[in-house]
Amino acid sequence: MKYSHLFAKTNKMAPADADSTNARLLIQGGFVNQLAAGIYTFLPLGLRVLNKIKAIVREEMNMVGGQEVLMPALIPKAPWETTKRWDSIDVLYKLTGAGDKEFALGPTHEEVVTPLVQAFVKSYKDLPCSAYQIQDKFRNEARAKSGLLRGREFSMKDMYSFHRSEADLETYYDTVAEQYTHLFNRMGLDAIKTEASGGVFSKYSHEYQVVTPYGEDLIYVCDKCRWAVNREIAEVKNGDICPKCDGKIIETKAIEVGNIFKLSTRFADDFGFTVTLEDGTQGKVWMGCYGIGMSRLMGSIVEVSHDERGIIWPKSVAPFAVHVVSIGSKDVAVHERVQQSATDLYDQLTRAGVEVLWDDRVGVSAGEKFADADLLGMPLRLVVSEKSLAQSSIEWKERASTESKLVTLTDIVSYVETFAR
Ligand code: ATP
Ligand code: MG
Repeated sequence: MKYSHLFAKTNKMAPADADSTNARLLIQGGFVNQLAAGIYTFLPLGLRVLNKIKAIVREEMNMVGGQEVLMPALIPKAPWETTKRWDSIDVLYKLTGAGDKEFALGPTHEEVVTPLVQAFVKSYKDLPCSAYQIQDKFRNEARAKSGLLRGREFSMKDMYSFHRSEADLETYYDTVAEQYTHLFNRMGLDAIKTEASGGVFSKYSHEYQVVTPYGEDLIYVCDKCRWAVNREIAEVKNGDICPKCDGKIIETKAIEVGNIFKLSTRFADDFGFTVTLEDGTQGKVWMGCYGIGMSRLMGSIVEVSHDERGIIWPKSVAPFAVHVVSIGSKDVAVHERVQQSATDLYDQLTRAGVEVLWDDRVGVSAGEKFADADLLGMPLRLVVSEKSLAQSSIEWKERASTESKLVTLTDIVSYVETFAR
């Protein structure tokens, strides 16, 4: 894509009300635009990141046998009454439609997925099964804040699994727990599996916590074995000896990017969802649920991966792998040579399947283009200039490094292909 075609440009000024690094950098870079507190548009660059995050999550959920569905976000009142959650979920957005019918905008989907699966699954032979979706969720958060970290409309992946026994649920829960670590690692995030209160259904649920100063949670982590617990339920404190090994417990702020729960038979019981067993009797259905905040993930990546100049996207989620910067000149012949080389490079890379953003603007200084490239944070910057062309080369600089080097015009495409792979 050519930068000159992108309608959503970078801003020189940070938004006055940006209360966190991700809000500031994502708004300044033209990745997102705020409509109201906790409500954002994903602009072309930001949507590319969100879609890459979604693609990784899809792959990982498919690996644990999840089947993708898309449930409605507009949910009638009746199932919320069945589970007695119409009045107990404080963040529920309620609305009244035609004929005075009442609805909620889904903050979570147990009320939809349980009767949905019940309609198809009749026998123990149909279990286990697991369905997930990636969808916008709505929560009337008292304080939407910290950019994408706490929104009122936000993208979530929610998966629900169904089992004939508690033991089967436990096995599957552990499988998903392990896959989650893999999933977050692929996005450059070290998410700590943290014990949290399990509510009424089980002793613990698990949160996946990313350490950042803007995190709203306080967790205690062992500096040796990485056992971790959320402060809300913790029986340890800063400086204690780890209950699992001889390491030391450290208190730190963190943000929850995912959460997995054993729901036990709570929702299946509410809907009278049972299955026929081998002996013809009816057996209970055990459920687990597994959430990931997709837009919160995007904000979290920025929180942990940036410097004073801007974002440093991990390759796996960067909107483009390469940011080509062409540096113009007042000398017409030089200008045309640079323009031609940059066009060739852009065409060759694009043909090779590399995702390239080319800052093709004319009349914008090199300094300004470099500042924008640093702010936008593509993993690799390639500079085409009179100076580099004098050595039949392109300047290569990775966003995460301070060094640059020259790569010859002959080698550049294959080098980039290897880098972007
Ligand atoms: P939190 O404790 O942060 O309020 P939660 O425990 O209510 O979140 P879940 O209901 O488990 O969250 O939702 C699954 C995931 O969705 C969370 O792990 C989090 O990553 C994300 N999430 C929850 N609320 C928000 C929000 N308001 N904005 C963005 N992401 C959110
Ligand atoms: Mg939570």
